[in-house]
Amino acid sequence: MKKSKWGTVFRLAWITAAAIAAALLFLPWDAQAPVQEKAETLPTPPAASVAGDGQRIQSNCQIIQTMAFTRCGHSVTRRISAPEDLVGADFGAARAYYAMWSIDAFSPENVTMRREIDLYCPMHAVLSVNEAGEAVLTRNVYGDGMAVEKTYAFTLTDFSPEDRQTLLRGIGFDSKEAAETWLAERKQRSENRAQSTD
Ligand SMILES: [Zn+2]
Repeated sequence: MKKSKWGTVFRLAWITAAAIAAALLFLPWDAQAPVQEKAETLPTPPAASVAGDGQRIQSNCQIIQTMAFTRCGHSVTRRISAPEDLVGADFGAARAYYAMWSIDAFSPENVTMRREIDLYCPMHAVLSVNEAGEAVLTRNVYGDGMAVEKTYAFTLTDFSPEDRQTLLRGIGFDSKEAAETWLAERKQRSENRAQSTD
């Protein structure tokens, strides 16, 4: 999948927002998590058995990658053929090639690896804010990066301080409809509160 420049820019914005949010109060989110796609938890064997004792990746090697999404607790596992330039690589070379991953098992035929990603998995519609402070609907289409699906005519100032924190951190829903219902309700609640204090 080709990453657009905007996707990369947004990913940076997301990381910044996540860093800000991490420093703030940890708020619960009220979206209902869908059924777990894959509950596989890979054991981490001791390094000595992972290193493969000088074994090298064969051309028919399968790479098994598990991405664990910490925001929703779901994980996704995919199995791909080893890239051509990895054929002949030993454990050290494979580890350098997959620097973002933790290799759990290594053999000439199979390499199993895992990565924790501090995002929602692709199943969720995630409300967040862009750099202009506008509410946006995003989805994890890259595995490790969110893409904007829709921008709303609401800004952070339309929401209560609590909801602003929630939006800055990002909040996941099962559907776009559920996300938009939340957005409309919270905006209305904020307006009602403002009127009652006038
Ligand atoms: Zn998920």
